[in-house]
Amino acid sequence: MRQLTEVQENPVLLLRKAHALLGSRLAVMSSFGAESALLLAFVAEADPDIKVLFLNTGKHFPQTLTYRQELADKLGLTNVEDIGPSPAQVSDRDPTGELWAFDPDACCNLRKVEPLQVASLPYEVLVTGRKRGQAATRATMTIVEERADSQQLRLNPLAFWSARDIQAEMQRRALPPHPLVAEGYLSIGCAPCTRPVDGQEDARSGRWSGLNKTECGIHIAAKPL
Ligand code: SF4
Repeated sequence: MRQLTEVQENPVLLLRKAHALLGSRLAVMSSFGAESALLLAFVAEADPDIKVLFLNTGKHFPQTLTYRQELADKLGLTNVEDIGPSPAQVSDRDPTGELWAFDPDACCNLRKVEPLQVASLPYEVLVTGRKRGQAATRATMTIVEERADSQQLRLNPLAFWSARDIQAEMQRRALPPHPLVAEGYLSIGCAPCTRPVDGQEDARSGRWSGLNKTECGIHIAAKPL
């Protein structure tokens, strides 16, 4: 994918080039979270028909589900697909809906990792909105990564963008923030596993707070290309 590394500094050019090369074998993953609007605006500028996958775990804040619809409409995205666990899987493995409380890894496998594994099979390249500055676990991330366990590439167009850069660009583009940002949620995942953070903490410290868990598993096992 040498053609992609040549344009990796410009997110719109990177997405446009990737879409031209890959067509329907390219997809963008978005949580429609705190900073998602910027990557999605770049997607819309590159080509609004690029596939966007939204992982609906069944445990999102209601505000996230509303924001997902409103933001997609505002940006003119035409190819957003909701993916997630089947009702039968949830009924079988999490009948009370409280698996997150006593086995969050099993809950993330059920509601995130396994559905994404199935939904991402048609795609050679997945685009994420991850940034180096979000957490120590992401500090060495590169823009173009390959998975250690598959041939599938990951593109992280915002890897080197700081939170300040992102906020400035979102304001310049008049992009609406996720409504929970105003309440101190700087990284927004499932409602039971997300709390607001204060100014001294990194953005993702509000995720699985108090547990020895920092990632849900969908972004593990990538290495620089
Ligand atoms: S983030 Fe929490 S609620 Fe969401 S899938 Fe993982 S453990 Fe379950």
